[in-house]
Amino acid sequence: MIYPVFLPHAGCPFQCVYCNQRVTVSCAERGSALAEFVRSRLADYAGQVQISGIPGEIAFYGGTFTALPPGLVDEILCAASVFVDRGVFTGVRFSTRPDCLDITVVDMLSRYPVRTVELGAQSLSDLVLQKSGRGYLAEAVVSAAKRIKRKGWRLGVQLMAGLPGDDPAKFMESMRRAIALGADFLRIYPTLVLEGTELARAYRQGLYVPLSLDEAVELISPAYDLALRAGVPIIRMGLQADPALEKPGVILAGPYHPAFGSLVKSRWWQERIDRHLSSLGEISGEEMIIRVAPNRVSDVIGHRKSNLLHWKSKWSVSAKVVGDADLTGIEILWKTKSSNRDISL
Ligand code: SF4
Repeated sequence: MIYPVFLPHAGCPFQCVYCNQRVTVSCAERGSALAEFVRSRLADYAGQVQISGIPGEIAFYGGTFTALPPGLVDEILCAASVFVDRGVFTGVRFSTRPDCLDITVVDMLSRYPVRTVELGAQSLSDLVLQKSGRGYLAEAVVSAAKRIKRKGWRLGVQLMAGLPGDDPAKFMESMRRAIALGADFLRIYPTLVLEGTELARAYRQGLYVPLSLDEAVELISPAYDLALRAGVPIIRMGLQADPALEKPGVILAGPYHPAFGSLVKSRWWQERIDRHLSSLGEISGEEMIIRVAPNRVSDVIGHRKSNLLHWKSKWSVSAKVVGDADLTGIEILWKTKSSNRDISL
């Protein structure tokens, strides 16, 4: 469970070319009284936890938490620690830039109950980082990740797909390197063109072409596969749906979909089952029953039954997807008329 407090652009050394959190997050601090805002959110969440009985980590997202003035970080973390001591929160987590986590900052943070740090790496390609004006190179990500791991904190790595200079090979290499750093979890965001950004200006001048929705799904599906095989959860794919984000004129272009993660998972299932179908002989006219864990059913069926339609049109087979409580995780059991037996894929 995560209790998020959004502090848009707070502490950021500059506005990154793709980022405009002022238009993408509804529930966030908007004025200068940041410590006051945090205290009131902590109190709100404490009330919620008292009713629900479900503690979780208090998370400071948006902006660059560790680049806030040190006195303010202390003030916020002192306030949060009081609630951690009372058992309301299980610890503190925050997101930050890799170049804002030097040893002095890490030592200061060690005085508080930090449990998880999410590194806004975005890429581990020097070329992509340079072309995107991030202001650091991959080595900064590696160093920050090592400091986080050495402290025993959980490491989250945020990556973006489709940044300026990015391509499928560079994105997959960033994925591999993030996993090799010992990431405990990942977040993946396809790059959107948001109003009020440098990228919007480049897009209008024809200097930046965003990924289409289909290209982004195609690109991120193998990344999802890689993370699954490595046993590293991807806790989010695509920006969180938010009324602010969906207001007209906020997203100028790019692969936005409110259920982007489901689209990726559906594509992954489609490819997996396609591979199996291609290994079979003549299957035209077959009826297949795919049994999966109940929480996977909608991903296998696909958005607006896209996978069922795909198998019908590509292989002339009809598919029925059934939830099976005996299955967990990503197992699948399979039956067709001709084989009439379960095959575990
Ligand atoms: S991407 Fe991160 S560091 Fe850059 S402006 Fe946005 S919040 Fe700040």
